[in-house]
Amino acid sequence: MPEPGTPVSQSPQSVNPSPQPEPPSPQRSTWLSERARALQPSLTLAITAKAKQLRAEGRDICSLSAGEPDFDTPAFIRQAAAEALEAGHTRYGPAAGEPALREAIAAKLSHENQIPTGADQVLVTNGGKQALYNLFQVLLGPGDEVLLPAPYWLSYPEIARLAGASVRLLPSDASSGFRLRPEQLEAAITPASRLLVLNSPSNPTGMVLSRPELEGIAAVLRRHPQVAVVCDEIYEFLLAPGHEHHSFAAVAPDLADRVFVVNGFAKGWAMTGWRIGWLAGPREVVAAASALQSQTTSNVCTFAQYGALAAIAGSRDCVREMAAQFNERRALLSDGLRRIPGLSLLPPQGAFYAFPDLGAYGLDSMTLCNRLLDGVGLAVVPGVAFGDDRCIRLSCAASPATLSDGLERLQRFLASL
Ligand code: GLU
Repeated sequence: MPEPGTPVSQSPQSVNPSPQPEPPSPQRSTWLSERARALQPSLTLAITAKAKQLRAEGRDICSLSAGEPDFDTPAFIRQAAAEALEAGHTRYGPAAGEPALREAIAAKLSHENQIPTGADQVLVTNGGKQALYNLFQVLLGPGDEVLLPAPYWLSYPEIARLAGASVRLLPSDASSGFRLRPEQLEAAITPASRLLVLNSPSNPTGMVLSRPELEGIAAVLRRHPQVAVVCDEIYEFLLAPGHEHHSFAAVAPDLADRVFVVNGFAKGWAMTGWRIGWLAGPREVVAAASALQSQTTSNVCTFAQYGALAAIAGSRDCVREMAAQFNERRALLSDGLRRIPGLSLLPPQGAFYAFPDLGAYGLDSMTLCNRLLDGVGLAVVPGVAFGDDRCIRLSCAASPATLSDGLERLQRFLASL
């Protein structure tokens, strides 16, 4: 192996195709790497796909599994992408993103989130997931530890492990409001701790961190300069009445050299299939993440970025209108759930999920979800995937009629137990 920093040799040997893999020997039971064998596929995507497939086969399915707005992408955004396509924006672009989009994201962060950001601190990625993946790859390695408040979105631990890092969970439950307490964080930090994940509004619990809570977390991190923070703000616009989104980077500007923001267009602008997100933070790390992207996926679809540019530079009216509808739906789902005997729910403060506790029914969450799907055709996600086996996750990103149907199926199933 070359020493770190050693230039890669361009000798004929290094450009030759890799040697042919050896044929399987009796000792080799799989071709998969250790990393691939440890990887769990995304259960949210798997259940959503299964629900679609069952419906295509003619089964009567009600799906409250997907964390995906059921609205169409607003017309002016689709129009901008179509025009870019017609105008010939069909070629490779800079791996880090179209300069105009990076500028617009930097302006959004600077003015809307009060995080002073330059365009060279922004990387346009294939959705929020790639932003997280690239960041974890360039920050973490074996021996490093990710501090993950639980319940958590199910991709964080997998993305951490793909980077070779281990995960230290910071558990919480409904009795503590699913909140991260500063003293809990302080007690969990070890010399190996390298990255804290904050996700507010939270998927799956809907918890929204208040400004004083973020200040409490910042106070702890000031005592531990080896710990960076990534703030996943993908649900920033989806807030129940009375709740506000605060960016940690704005609350603790003195920590700017170790705070990263991940966000994207999927949830706020109903652009899930477009796959456009971003990573923002200190230049050196964003540049390394861009280099990684240049060697893996290159730029995000060029003409799609022009749709995203129209979205972020445009009025927020469309975002607010959809958010208002999600508020009604969240309330409808929460009220319906709270009427079901034996189920307890902490009302979600944001995002578009409810995460009720059904532990009283005595079934693990995977069994419960399988039986819900087989028995009454209701697709929801087991809490075990998010680190809490007493709960299930229901999405309210569905029409009011679908939500009422889902509630009725859940009630019917639970009454039959
Ligand atoms: N983030 C959404 C969810 O949790 C989309 C699916 C996924 O990427 O996991 O349902």
